[in-house]
Formats: sequence, structure tokens, C-alpha cells
Amino acid sequence: RAKSAGGNRFELADPEADARAITRHGLTTALPTALERGEFFIEYQPLVHLGDGSVRGAEALVRWLHPQHGVLGPDRFIPLAEHTGLIVPLGRWVLEQSVRQAREWRELHGGPEEMGPLRINVNLSPCQLTHPGLVQDTVDILERTGVEPDALCLEVTESALIGADDDLLKPLRRLAEMGVDIALDDFGTGYSNLANLRRLPVSILKLDRSFTQSMQQFPADPVDLKIVEGIVSLAHSLDLAVTVEGVETGAQAEQLRVLGCDTAQGWYYARPGPPERLHELALVDATG
Ligand code: C2E
Ligand code: MG
Ligand code: MG
Ligand code: MG
Repeated sequence: RAKSAGGNRFELADPEADARAITRHGLTTALPTALERGEFFIEYQPLVHLGDGSVRGAEALVRWLHPQHGVLGPDRFIPLAEHTGLIVPLGRWVLEQSVRQAREWRELHGGPEEMGPLRINVNLSPCQLTHPGLVQDTVDILERTGVEPDALCLEVTESALIGADDDLLKPLRRLAEMGVDIALDDFGTGYSNLANLRRLPVSILKLDRSFTQSMQQFPADPVDLKIVEGIVSLAHSLDLAVTVEGVETGAQAEQLRVLGCDTAQGWYYARPGPPERLHELALVDATG
């Protein structure tokens, strides 16, 4: 992959690696103009309540429609955008687009009152966390769009917060105090001390796909079941909700529901797709 090709840039003995390195270089230099030219777009994947199957919101996932290479997934370009600093304006763009989209869904689709409006989850890169404009940019976007802070959830990976000091947590605390939810993404892949969870301003744990995958075999590995059960009960005792990612089968969904997980996301429900698709799913859901 392009990621590992950096060190081979000048090694002509491996023409394939060289081509990958050029691609990486090409992508990096094309990034800033891509943002100006509007080559990025966002797909939305529904977040489904495991108890009643209703659509409660969506995660925003960015893609790049590259004029030569076609649609590129975030794993291809987010690391490059982080490296060059473009992640800050790109992340701000994703946030604004997603919050605007949430606003539009709310206008199109009120949904049953007791469920509240569809919520929007947006990924934050560690570089955005350390950028001084994060809190103000978020406040501005929410004000401009008229979306309540509690309709927004920012996802930060567990690894980004491992060993985080108070300076790093301060902006997240301020956002949490405003009512923005903070989710700990890919939970279970880092090596964070579970007791450490108490000092993080998070309200949602997103259990990594690797746990969901281990529910695929039948019967599932009893040790994995115990681990998930333990994480869920710890999370709930700390007042954290648990979302599971990567649910691909009904059997996994059922297993995770029985284990007490609250919300699920995955191909079993829907692949990431255009905003109209999410609207349709939520509408079908609300009208039966
Ligand atoms: P993530 O936040 O953990 O997002 C979940 C990833 O799992 C997405 O990959 C999604 O398409 C994929 N996925 C969802 N359901 C299933 C399933 O049932 N099975 C399988 N095998 N995969 C599933 P995607 O879209 O390629 O995004 C990859 C990562 O890129 C994201 O992981 C996130 O960390 C990052 N990313 C995406 N959009 C943004 C963004 O706007 N900003 C930043 N900083 N990072 C982003
Ligand atoms: Mg995420
Ligand atoms: Mg995730
Ligand atoms: Mg993940």
C-alpha cells in the first residue's frame, strides 16, 4: 500500500514500489486543490438502535473522487492530510457539511418525537484535537446551522487519547460541557487502562470491529463473549453508551444485543451511502 512506500521512493529496483511512491507523492500534492475543487464528498452510514431497530443517526465518512484514480477511501488520504496539515481545513469542511446534512434531515424527517432528531457522528483526527480553533469552529458551525450541540457526536480514537494530558482533553471537555457527545472510536484496539476511562470526557464507547468479527463464528469464542460482556457492564456503570461497529450479520446483531450493546453500525443494516439513502432508511423506519 501507498502508506508503506515512503522509504522506497528512490529504489528503482522495485518499479512497483516506485509507482506507489509517486502516487503517494501525487496524492499529497493534489490534496489542497482537491479541497478547493470540491473533489471530496461524504457518505453516511446509519446508526441503529439494537433494542428496536430504529435509525438514530449516522456516521459521516469522507471520500475523495480523484479525477484519475476514482473514489479513494479515507485510509488512502487521511494519513497524508494529517502529515501535511490539510486535515484541519478538510476536517472543518467535513464537520460543516455533516452538520448541515443533519439539519436537512431534521427538516425532511421529524421522526417520532420521543426519539429526537437524527444525530450525526463526525470523526476527528488527533491533529484537529491539538488545533486551537477546534472549539470555536465547532460552536460557529452549530450556530450557523442552528443545530443543537446534542445532535452532534465527535469520534476520537482510543489511541489518540492514550496518555492524553489535561491540555489535550481541555477542548473535548468544553465541547462535552456544551452538550456535544464524545465517542471513543475503535475501542479495544489500544491498550488504554480501563480505569483511565473515568477521566476522559466521553459518553460513548465504540467497540472495535474486531470484537464484532469474533461473534461471527458459532458458537462465538466464550472468552470474547466474556470480554464484551465485561466492557459493556463497565461502560454502563460509568454511564457510557456502547455502539458496535462492523455488524455484518443478523446473528452478530442479536448476540451483541443480548450482551447489552446499545447501538450498532455495519453492512447488515446498510453500507455507507449518499444522504438521500439515510433519509429513506429513517423514513421507512419511522412509518413502519
Ligand atoms: P471508523 O471511524 O472506525 O469508521 C468505520 C469504518 O468501518 C468505515 O470505513 C466503514 O465504511 C467501515 N465499515 C462499516 N461497517 C462495516 C462492516 O460491516 N464491515 C466492514 N468490514 N467495514 C465496515 P471507511 O469509510 O473506509 O473509513 C475508515 C476510517 O477513516 C474511519 O474508521 C475513520 O477513522 C477514518 N475517517 C473517515 N472519515 C473521516 C473524516 O472525515 N475525518 C477523519 N479524521 N477520519 C475519517
Ligand atoms: Mg468513526
Ligand atoms: Mg470506528
Ligand atoms: Mg474502525
